Amino acid sequence: MNNDIAPELLEKIEKQFDENIAKNEKIKKILEKIENKKATYQDVQEYAGELGKCLSNSFKLIVSEDTLPDGKFYYNIAQRLIEPTVKKNYESISKQCEIVQTNLNKNANIGIKAVVPKYNSERTDSIINYVSTRDKYSDCEKSFLDVLEHNARLIVDDSVKENAQFHDSVGLNPKIVRIASSGCCKWCSSLAGTYNYRDVSNTGNDVFRRHANCHCSVIYDPINGSRKVQNVWDKKIENKDELKKRIERINQSLINDNKKNYKLNLQMFAKYKSLRLDAHTRSELNTWLKHDEIESGTLMLKDIGDYRYYFVYNDFDNYTLYKKVKIRGRNRSK
Ligand SMILES: [Zn+2]
Repeated sequence: MNNDIAPELLEKIEKQFDENIAKNEKIKKILEKIENKKATYQDVQEYAGELGKCLSNSFKLIVSEDTLPDGKFYYNIAQRLIEPTVKKNYESISKQCEIVQTNLNKNANIGIKAVVPKYNSERTDSIINYVSTRDKYSDCEKSFLDVLEHNARLIVDDSVKENAQFHDSVGLNPKIVRIASSGCCKWCSSLAGTYNYRDVSNTGNDVFRRHANCHCSVIYDPINGSRKVQNVWDKKIENKDELKKRIERINQSLINDNKKNYKLNLQMFAKYKSLRLDAHTRSELNTWLKHDEIESGTLMLKDIGDYRYYFVYNDFDNYTLYKKVKIRGRNRSK
């Protein structure tokens, strides 16, 4: 290769992508719905699908065997075109997921902060590896374009799963609903239905799987869960004493719930009082939360370094840590 074509191609793809988004009426409508706090996961799922299509279409128009050297998607070109555009898509989609989840939590009266799924760099790497190991771009173009949309939808599935998992861990009873898209396959029709998150939470469970071109929705709305802890999470705080009492009640409720239902978590709550929050972690939390308006008593989780921290937000710079788990084999954000 004499001259490097990647920067120019990337610019063209990004421009095309922005144009595609700007003229997409469905995206406009969904964003309005999200802004008006009327959106559900089904809407974000559709939004992700549309964004995926916009990206896929940009590659379709800009990249071809004629534009690629030797008609091949060499690794160093693929990497520089796919990684930034897929990442941009992730940022837009995960942001809308967060807004929707925040609102769903509010509507369900649970003081729990939305979890934002991490950028999955392994998925992107596998797309890049796939296209760059084919002899000719035409050998993989169609499935590559499909996978861009597919990949976008998976981000919403991640958000559903991670938030349901968090809610499950604090004693709610999340229900996952899978809705078959019209005209989807037999396998998808057989999977449509409502499930207890706990029954489908194992890795690789079919309810959270989708085949290529599957437009089914996997949704979660905490209002459908049991409201065991609702009454202690949703009251307004009047003063510091009240706050202290409330946190105590929350802890008590979590401990009781746990004893009754979730023996596995017993240890984590028993340890609750003694967990110390080190200065470094606290400052990381401060940086993360400094621009957010958060109600006292909100429960949240955050991955920092090798650990996932579960804690209650009492006030800015004042957090009660009740669980810290080492996370292994998870995708780290870059
Ligand atoms: Zn399907």
